[in-house]
Amino acid sequence: MAKRDYYEVLGVSKSAQQEEIKKAYRKMAIKYHPDKNPGNPEAEDKFKEAAEAYEVLSNPEKRQRYDQFGHQGLGGNGGFSGGGMNMEDIFSQFGDIFGGGFDGFFGGGSRGGRRTKKGTNLRVKLKMNLQEVANGVEKKIKVKRHVVAPGVSFKTCTTCNGAGQVRKVVNTMLGQMVSASTCPACGGSGQMVDKKPADADPQGLIVREEILSINIPGGVADGMQLSMSGKGNETPGGIPGDLLIVIEEVQDDILQRDGNNVVYDLYVNFVDAALGAQIEVPTIESKVKIKLEPGTQSGKILRLKGKGIKDINGYNRGDQLIHVNVWTPKQLSKEERITLEKLRDSANFNPDPGSGEKSFFDKMKEFF
Ligand SMILES: [Zn+2]
Repeated sequence: MAKRDYYEVLGVSKSAQQEEIKKAYRKMAIKYHPDKNPGNPEAEDKFKEAAEAYEVLSNPEKRQRYDQFGHQGLGGNGGFSGGGMNMEDIFSQFGDIFGGGFDGFFGGGSRGGRRTKKGTNLRVKLKMNLQEVANGVEKKIKVKRHVVAPGVSFKTCTTCNGAGQVRKVVNTMLGQMVSASTCPACGGSGQMVDKKPADADPQGLIVREEILSINIPGGVADGMQLSMSGKGNETPGGIPGDLLIVIEEVQDDILQRDGNNVVYDLYVNFVDAALGAQIEVPTIESKVKIKLEPGTQSGKILRLKGKGIKDINGYNRGDQLIHVNVWTPKQLSKEERITLEKLRDSANFNPDPGSGEKSFFDKMKEFF
C-alpha cells in the first residue's frame, strides 16, 4: 500500500507551524485511540498512520528531508523499520503531546486498572575467596528486610475504592478527556492498612533480620549479580522485591585468576632449571609436586589440567598454568664466583636461540 502524504494524513497545510501539527495529531490520536475503538483495525491503522506522520513532521530535520525527497528521503519506509511504528513507541510519544504524568487514557482501557505493586530490591555484597569462586559455595547471608508485620490487616483503599488509579477529568478545547494515574494513597495496590501492631510503620511494615542461605555456583566473577527472587522488601498488597547479591572477589596472594584458569609464577634457581628437579607448587586445593625437566628455559609454561575454576555455564574446569621464571642470583660468595667463572666459557652455558626453542609468541599461541 502506497504511503499517504503526511500533511494529508494530519489534514494540515505544508506551511503548518509546529503548534498546528501538534493540535491536529492530538485530535487524530483521540479519535482513533484503540481504547475508544476496540476491535476496529481500520481505526488502528489510522492511529498508527497519524503517529508516523507526527513523528516525522514534529522533527524539523526529518520534516525537511521529507519536504525535499518525500518518503524516499526517510529511507524508503519513512525511516521506520518493519513498516510503521509500534504501539509502544506511539504511547511513549504521548508524554510530549499531552503532557507528562499520564498513565493511560480514557480509563478502563487495556493499560488501565490495578497494578501489581512490587517491594524494593535489597542489595548485599558478598566476598568470595578464590577457592569459593573455583568450586562454588553455600553462603549464609544476613539481611534486614521490611516485612509485613504479623497481625496487620488491610482494607480497600478509600481514595481509589480499590481501583488502584485515580481519574481526573480535564476540559480541553477538544472536549473532555479523562486521565488516569496511580493512586497516591495506596501506590496502585488498591489496599490500605486497617489494623496494625504498634511497632509497625504506617504501611504495616517492620524490619526483620533474617539469615538466608544461598548456593553460589562456581565460576562467578567480581561484580556479577545474583538475584534471589522475592527475598527483598515486602510491600503491603503487593509482591516482595528481590535480593540482589553482588559478588566481590578477594584476590589471592599466590594464585592469579585469568578467566577460568589460574596462573602461578614459579621461581626456580638455574641449577634446578639446568639439572631438572621435583618442585612443590600450590594449587587452589592443595600442594602438588611437579617435575621440572632438565634444561627448562625461563618463560616456559606448564599446565596442570583441571586445576582451575569451574565454568559457570558448564561442567568443565579451567587449568592451572605455571609460569617458570629462572632466578638469577644477585649476590655471590667468593667460592660461588670461582665456580661460575669456570663455567662461563663452556659452550653449553651460552644461549643458542636457533636450537629449536619456541618464541614467546609461539608459546602463547599454543596455550590460548
Ligand atoms: Zn488507592
